[in-house]
Amino acid sequence: MTQATLFARIVSGELPADIVYRDDLVTAFRDIRPLAPIHILIVPNRAIPTLADVSVGDEATLGRMLRVASALARQEGVAEDGYRVMINCRDHGGQEVYHLHLHLVGGRPLGPMLARSR
Ligand code: 5GP
Repeated sequence: MTQATLFARIVSGELPADIVYRDDLVTAFRDIRPLAPIHILIVPNRAIPTLADVSVGDEATLGRMLRVASALARQEGVAEDGYRVMINCRDHGGQEVYHLHLHLVGGRPLGPMLARSR
């Protein structure tokens, strides 16, 4: 199995995941290696490899991903203290799974967004 198909197989139900939300456009599930007390991945049901591959036809899906992130943050109890939403894109962005996904992380102070290289 290639990593490119991993999240598609979670969306289809072929692979297990702790799914916290699902609708006609997106699915959200807990990250298997959480970096914070709350770490949820929000993915489009129809696989888009990276943020660099989106087109105008994906606008509804991208908007839904952000709205679901906001709603899940409230549901998970981190909205008031705050949280971070991230998309890693391709090699320099550190993307491991080539099925577009948004990370919702929170539940503790998250520190600076990036470590300074010097
Ligand atoms: P990326 O580095 O591509 O932005 O993030 C990929 C994320 O997917 C990582 O945080 C990793 O822990 C998570 N992940 C990788 N494999 C699985 C899996 O099989 N199930 C779940 N729930 N998360 C996974």
